[in-house]
Amino acid sequence: MAGHRKRELAAHGRVDRAAAGAAPTVEAKPATKDPLVIRHIEFLGGMAKADGWRPPPGLPEVAFSGRSNVGKSSLLNKLVHRRAIARVSKTPGRTREINFFAVNHEFLLVDLPGYGFAKVSKERKSEWGELIEGYLRHNPSLRGVVQLLDARHDPTDDDLRMFNLLADIGVPALVVMTKIDKLTAKQRAQQITALAAQCGVAEDQVIPCSAVTGEGRDDLAASLAALLAAPEEAE
Ligand code: GDP
Repeated sequence: MAGHRKRELAAHGRVDRAAAGAAPTVEAKPATKDPLVIRHIEFLGGMAKADGWRPPPGLPEVAFSGRSNVGKSSLLNKLVHRRAIARVSKTPGRTREINFFAVNHEFLLVDLPGYGFAKVSKERKSEWGELIEGYLRHNPSLRGVVQLLDARHDPTDDDLRMFNLLADIGVPALVVMTKIDKLTAKQRAQQITALAAQCGVAEDQVIPCSAVTGEGRDDLAASLAALLAAPEEAE
């Protein structure tokens, strides 16, 4: 494999010194390297209640949050190059749970239930709030939250409540703008500035993504890898 890769680099890279007897040096192409290689993914189970089951803490966790239909399952599938997450997360009953996936036996990818269904009762909304807030607040393994926003729309009140909660808890937040393929180049530049300002984050915390074209997948993967590699903050 290593030999094959070397040949590939020699074939595509720029050869600086190819004199007979001297090993040629080549310029590597870092863009071809996947920042988050997914070797193994396993569904561990769902947490249905604030005081209910959850996997034993230990591995670092990154949670994905957004209103329903924002494109979360599509993006997660794209991120891990598998359809496993949508299959689990769209199963009736699981849509209201916090679903835990172990990735490479190294970290937990946590799929928070989508919020914002207009039809949902007040009671259900407060259950949702308790479940999510309980999970986020009492979790020393949580390294960050990826908050998804639809690129075409302003953040909803629920989205803004989530940003306030994350700021209050002090969890690092990344923002993904989903369905970016639906915007023109001009609209996307304006929308990145507008959404960053509305959510109180820096523009470089916003990652434009498309589950259709695959744009942003590697940027998101690199940000996650950096988040997971960062030393834990002192208590
Ligand atoms: P979820 O409810 O947040 O998990 O959202 P889904 O992943 O199920 O996506 C909701 C709808 O948006 C589906 O019809 C998807 O096909 C569509 N969708 C998701 N991501 C994208 C995207 O990046 N681009 C476009 N054009 N459509 C998308």
